[in-house]
Formats: sequence, C-alpha cells, structure tokens
Amino acid sequence: MATQTTTKASVYDCPICIGGEWRASAGRRETLLNPATREPITTVPYCTPEEVRAAVDSAQAAFESWRQVPAVDRSHIFFRYRELLLKHSEEIARITTLEHGKTLEESRASLGRGIEAVEFATSVPTLLMGDTLADISRGVDTVTVRQPIGVCMGIPPFNFPSMVPMWMFPLAIACGNSFVLKPSERVPRTAIRCVELLYEAGLPQGVCNVVHGTKDVVDALLADARVKAVSFVGSSPVARSIYETAGRKGKRVQAMGGAKNHLVVMPGCDLGAAVKAILGAAYGCTGQRCLATSVVVAVGSVADPLVEELKKAASQIALGAGDDPKTGMGPVVNAAAKERIENYIAEGEREGARVVADGRKARPHDGTNGYYVGPTIFDHVRPEMRIAREEIFGPVLAVIRAKDMEDAVAVVNGSEFGNATSIFTGSGAEGREFAARTSAGMVGVNVGVPAPSAFFPFAGWKGSFFGDLHALGRDAVQFYTETKVITSRWPTPAREHKITF
Ligand code: NAD
Repeated sequence: MATQTTTKASVYDCPICIGGEWRASAGRRETLLNPATREPITTVPYCTPEEVRAAVDSAQAAFESWRQVPAVDRSHIFFRYRELLLKHSEEIARITTLEHGKTLEESRASLGRGIEAVEFATSVPTLLMGDTLADISRGVDTVTVRQPIGVCMGIPPFNFPSMVPMWMFPLAIACGNSFVLKPSERVPRTAIRCVELLYEAGLPQGVCNVVHGTKDVVDALLADARVKAVSFVGSSPVARSIYETAGRKGKRVQAMGGAKNHLVVMPGCDLGAAVKAILGAAYGCTGQRCLATSVVVAVGSVADPLVEELKKAASQIALGAGDDPKTGMGPVVNAAAKERIENYIAEGEREGARVVADGRKARPHDGTNGYYVGPTIFDHVRPEMRIAREEIFGPVLAVIRAKDMEDAVAVVNGSEFGNATSIFTGSGAEGREFAARTSAGMVGVNVGVPAPSAFFPFAGWKGSFFGDLHALGRDAVQFYTETKVITSRWPTPAREHKITF
C-alpha cells in the first residue's frame, strides 16, 4: 500500500456522505500519496460499523419515498447530472490524475465513458417498460412491470475512479433504488466529487450514501439484510468471495473480476494498425485495465516484424506525471503495485522468456519521483509461464508465438480468465471464426480494446465474472429491478363475442 496511518489534517480529508450530508468519519485515517510525486494529497477514513449502519439506515429510509418518484422525474435528475458532469469534467479529470496517476487524457476519456452510463440512465422511462397482452383470456389483461429492489451497494476498484462507480449508482438510482457506494480506498476523491454533483443535480437527501474503507466495511454491508443487491468490480479472488457470501445471504450479485486478455495477430492483417492498437491496449492506463491486452499471440510469419515494431514503438512512450502533456504513460498506482509488477518481470526472466524491453530500467522524462514502471515486452513466452497466465495489472506484454489460428484459439481458450480477446486479421472469415470460437465475454475484430458502449452489457466469462446479469445495458436494468406480472380481470359483457370454440 502507498498509504500510511496519519492524523495530519493539512491535506484534503475525505468525508463520508450519510443522509445527503457530508461529514468527517470517526474511523482511523490513512494518507494517500500522489503516485507521480509521492506527496500526500488526501486522507481516507476507514468507517466504523456505526457509520456503515447509518448509511444503510439512510438508504433504506430514502428508498421508501424515492421509489414513488415517477421514472420520468427521476430521469430529469440524470439529465441535469450529465450537464454538471460535463461542466466539471476538467476538474474531475484532474482529481483522477492526481490520485490515480493516469494521464489527463486518459482521465478525461474514462470520465466520458462514465457520462455515457449516465446518458443511458436518462432513458430509464423507456428501459423500464414492460410487456402487455390484452385479453389473455376473456376480460383478462396481463402486464409486466419492473420495480426497484431496494438498497443496492457498489464496490468499485481503483483503476477507473469515475467510470466504474458510474456503471453502478446512476442506473441503480434511476431505476428507483437507493445506494451505498464504497469507493476504492486508493482513489476516493473522484467518487466523492461525482456524488456531490449528483446531489447538486437535485437528488433527494439520503438516496446515495458514501462510506470508505475496505474489507471490514464491505463485510458489514454484506451482513446487512436490508442491502438487496451488490455490484462489485475488482480482482477475481475478492469477486468470487463476494459472489459466494452475497449469494448465501440471498442478495442479488454481479461480481466482475480480473483478466488476462489475448490479442491475436494474423499474417495478412494491417500490421501498422495492429501495432498501434496493441500499444494503446497494453500500455494505456499503464496497463491497469481489465481490458488491457497482456498477451499477444503472434501467428506464423507475423511474429518477427511484429516484435520489432512493438519494441520500437514502446521505446518512444514518455513516462512521467499524468498532468504533463508530454507524458504518454503515467505511474502505477502505488508502491505495492510497482513492487508486484517488477517481481513479475523478474519471474518472466527466471521462467526463460526473452526480455525485449525492460520497464524496470525506464526513467520518467520529467524527473518526478513516482511509482514508475516502463513498457515491458517479453518474447517467446510459453502459455504455461506465470507471466502468461496470471494477471499482472501493469505495463507488461507477453508475446506467445503460435503456428496457426487453431493454435492461437487454443491459447486464448486455455486461460482461466475470459474477459476480452481480440484478433487483427485481413480476413472476414477468420474474424467470424475467432469471434464464434473464443470463450470471452467481449471480443474485438481489428479493435484493440473491445469495450462496449454503455448501451450494451459489459462483463467477462469464466474466472472474470461471477453472476448472471452483466453491468450496463439491458442486463443492468434487469439486475437493478424485479419483474412483477400483474393479471387483471375486468369483465365487459357488452364486448363478449358469441363465437365459441
Ligand atoms: P481489489 O479486488 O483489490 O479491490 C476492489 C474493491 O474491493 C475495492 O473497493 C476494495 O476496497 C475492495 N476489497 C478489497 N479486498 C477486499 C476483501 N477482501 N473483501 C471485500 N472487499 C475488498 O481490486 P483493485 O486492485 O482495486 O482493482 C484491480 C482489479 O479490478 C483487477 O483485477 C482488474 O482486472 C479488476 N477490474 C475488473 C473489471 C471488470 O469489468 N471485470 C473492471 C475494472 C477492474
């Protein structure tokens, strides 16, 4: 962890939000450091059990009246929210870069993706429409309605401080639920600002509550029977354990986990486009993305020129602080992340992979003292090596050489994860075949990061997802609502037919 226990109040102290009021937590605090400079930027509290209970009390009380607000009125709040997010987007992006380290351009883009989820939430009157069948029997009509389920909780990871929380609370709340959000303890300030603006948009007090902390706070929320649904995004071991615990307690749960995404490069593809896409997919957000490409599967004759081009392009990426426009790649989030990634690089060397670019040797262009690891490339990686199998969550790319597409599909499908995979090909038939046969939730054809827009569902398969209904899209509307089927009989004798069957 980059954090240390402190009582210092000279930096911004993250508040909690209960009943629509922002206040200091009574819990212990830790100081978070700017990953680019190691300077203190904020203190984050670890909420007490009483504060967690108070957040659920507040959400439960607010739910009773919020659920009765017509969907059209609820959607109006999200139209206003969207405008406020746009108005404050530069400020929010700067907070994200300060606490997370990613470049400003990346912070702006990920907020843009979050705003897309808010736009989706504004469609809630249409999204909640059900089915109707009049005269299902004489004088009998049946309709389905979607009703909110109650208090929902959201547990996002550190890597997308605005976007992932916005997969959760806007749609849940627009559907008529109330919410308790526990942002990642490593990047709490972005989420705080986003919830502040939601209240500014007119959300009634108590509908969205914010607590801070980690396992203890999550466990307390899971133990509370009033919490009906859990949206989790984070690493696979935690996702699996939350899925099991929440499921045992009868809660609805969607738990998105970790990833090891493969990008297959076929001979005959546009190599320049593939290299550009791989660079963005492997090193964007310093590799700290669930959709990051961490394994390239180079098929046949494409391998040598591809590795050569990747090496050249990776050496031109400027490491540095994310708020410097000359920076191409920011630091990783904290000291523990830097150590973990560097240990994996050492492990790759031990396992016998060929080091083409060693990120441990890279230095920032601006002389800052952050948690830097440069773009790393391993060639001649074998599928059984740890660097090919385990999620490193940093700028480390493994190149596996495959003899043909059959071999490449076997590598992709051999992974315990199944978040996303892509192919670069000049053949439509190869693209179709790949999309049909690979076991991953999101597939790209000539697309490096196959992140669907908010109108489509987002989640992986296998060890990357625990649950049934994905985030975003119509899946998420179903997740945050219950279906009720109402059958009514209102006999109207005047209309009765004389025909009998
Ligand atoms: P993490 O699992 O360490 O933490 C995620 C959240 O869970 C945080 O809010 C944290 O406070 C909480 N948490 C941590 N340990 C816990 C425990 N034992 N019990 C209950 N809660 C706990 O993940 P992270 O390091 O913040 O984020 C990176 C991970 O998230 C990567 O594995 C990445 O692939 C994954 N991720 C997945 C997706 C997806 O859509 N599948 C999207 C983004 C990130």
